[in-house]
Amino acid sequence: MKKRIIILPGDGIGKEVTTEGKKVLDKIAETFGHQFEYDYASIGHEAIEATGNPLPDETLEKLKKCDAILFGAVGHPTYDNDPTLKVRPEQGLLKMRKELGLYANLRPIKLFDELLGASSIKPEILKGSDILFFRELTGDVYFGEKGRKDDRNTAYDLMIYQRFEVERIAHKAFQAAQTRKKKVTSVDKANVLESSRLWREVVQEIGKQYPDVTLEHQFVDAAAMKLIQTPRSFDVVLTGNLFGDILTDEASQIAGSMGMLASASVGDKVGLYEPIHGSAHDITGKGIANPLASILSAALLLDISFGMKEESETVIAAVESVLKQGFRTGDIADTSTDKTKILNTHVMGSEVAKNIKKIKSFAQA
Ligand code: NAD
Repeated sequence: MKKRIIILPGDGIGKEVTTEGKKVLDKIAETFGHQFEYDYASIGHEAIEATGNPLPDETLEKLKKCDAILFGAVGHPTYDNDPTLKVRPEQGLLKMRKELGLYANLRPIKLFDELLGASSIKPEILKGSDILFFRELTGDVYFGEKGRKDDRNTAYDLMIYQRFEVERIAHKAFQAAQTRKKKVTSVDKANVLESSRLWREVVQEIGKQYPDVTLEHQFVDAAAMKLIQTPRSFDVVLTGNLFGDILTDEASQIAGSMGMLASASVGDKVGLYEPIHGSAHDITGKGIANPLASILSAALLLDISFGMKEESETVIAAVESVLKQGFRTGDIADTSTDKTKILNTHVMGSEVAKNIKKIKSFAQA
């Protein structure tokens, strides 16, 4: 199959981890006889420095014409330390989601057994956890009206949802649940927020079209607690933009590290695949970033955008195999055993790529 992929490395460790994601895609193409064509484009701080715009028109044009996007991260300490700056890297990300109609963010929380010890949660509570988050991406406080009153001492961000925005992501969540354990947990704050009451009403209506799926509702505060207390009780979690942002970072601890979690942003056109972590300037340039979230994002890309199930599963199996062999980056190292072999970003990517060939040959034998 011939496909065109745009790589948006972005800022900080984004460049380091997407290099490894691409390495694995290259190995998949070579092993399975596909042809992946790549092009690069700029976004975020890097784009602001070059053009003054966090999402240059040239980037947007390229994104509209490709088959899939592999994205790193945006962000820079300059902006984190000065919230008054008007042009900001994350504006590039928000505009990209809006322009490409990427309204559903899928975040699988997959726990590899080998990393049971890397989480701060007890292994007996974690074992067997497998959650798929559906976070709405183009509504909520991020896109509602925002501002300051004249006195500058009162600020507001409007939490706003429209029926169609809830309907379209709810359908995706229920459809995904049908292929899994057939349970959707919708998370809101319907006891106090009107936008959440609309959310719940619409999700209940859509749920009736999927009688084989069990629907339950949780308030976001209770869900935050239960995620850590009984992570195995969740299958598909459906939630809004703000609650999803917070809950998925919390859930990253189930997987052991931010460096392990991949995500897919999809809508009706092209899909975008990225780790859930940010640009991590505290470790940029040190060669120690965990590339597995970017590599697992590449696995999602193969499955969702290209329909390459076997290729995607091969990438996941290669990651599993590397972890079984004791290879770790520093963030997921198990300090209680001397069997762990700490690798840098580049070597971890190469190990995964090496295992792809082995797994494919084994499957054929
Ligand atoms: P972050 O995810 O960048 O880092 C949080 C912590 O996790 C840091 O200690 C970091 O070293 C560690 N970490 C993250 N990814 C890792 C990896 N692959 N391997 C090993 N350790 C890893 O979040 P932050 O520090 O809150 O934000 C840094 C910058 O990233 C900010 O400018 C923020 O705005 C931006 N950000 C961007 C995105 C995005 O582009 N989607 C998401 C979140 C944050």
